[in-house]
Amino acid sequence: LSGEAITAGQIDGLKTHFPLCMRNLHSSLRRDKHLRHFGRLQYGLFLKGIGLSIDEALVFWRQAFSKFTDEQFNKEYRYNIRHSYGLQGAGRNYSPYSCQQILMDHPPGTGDAHGCPFRHFSVDNLMLAMESQMGIGNEEKSVQSGVKQDVAARKYHLACNRVFEHLHERELKREKDGGGGSSMRETIVHPNEWFDRSWNLKNP
Ligand code: SF4
Repeated sequence: LSGEAITAGQIDGLKTHFPLCMRNLHSSLRRDKHLRHFGRLQYGLFLKGIGLSIDEALVFWRQAFSKFTDEQFNKEYRYNIRHSYGLQGAGRNYSPYSCQQILMDHPPGTGDAHGCPFRHFSVDNLMLAMESQMGIGNEEKSVQSGVKQDVAARKYHLACNRVFEHLHERELKREKDGGGGSSMRETIVHPNEWFDRSWNLKNP
């Protein structure tokens, strides 16, 4: 990975390297067999960024949208997926969204799954999402309370990085002890950076 192509069938297994926003989108997609427009864009461009080709993206989304017929899929969604890869319309090749874009643009409404959970979820729903998506529950009080403080101070990146550090504590320590690493307080500001950093730490 990290530059290598991935296939549609690998995505479920790679979820452990996704930040919370993308895990939430992935779970919503699996549950609803659908994502609305901005969810498809946010998640689709992220997947493109981790190495999903247009052909594999079409396989992935077709399988994921299993409640639709081929005709509906081709009519409603195929064009937009190809468009996000620069193959339709003006041919613009869209980049995956940064945290800043996700935090600021197109705030999610009812029924939407896009956005940043640290900013757009209530504290209760954020705690539930951290538990169900990342296994950070009540026994991890210090992480929970740190995240709550960050969110209250509107420091959403810090909250997300705190979670990253918790989930990669051992690997970060090993990296630091090995002399190649940064301290725990670097800041990841892009979901694809989250993925790359996580993948590289877990697969040294
Ligand atoms: Fe996703 Fe960025 Fe929010 Fe983390 S801070 S959940 S990577 S948008």
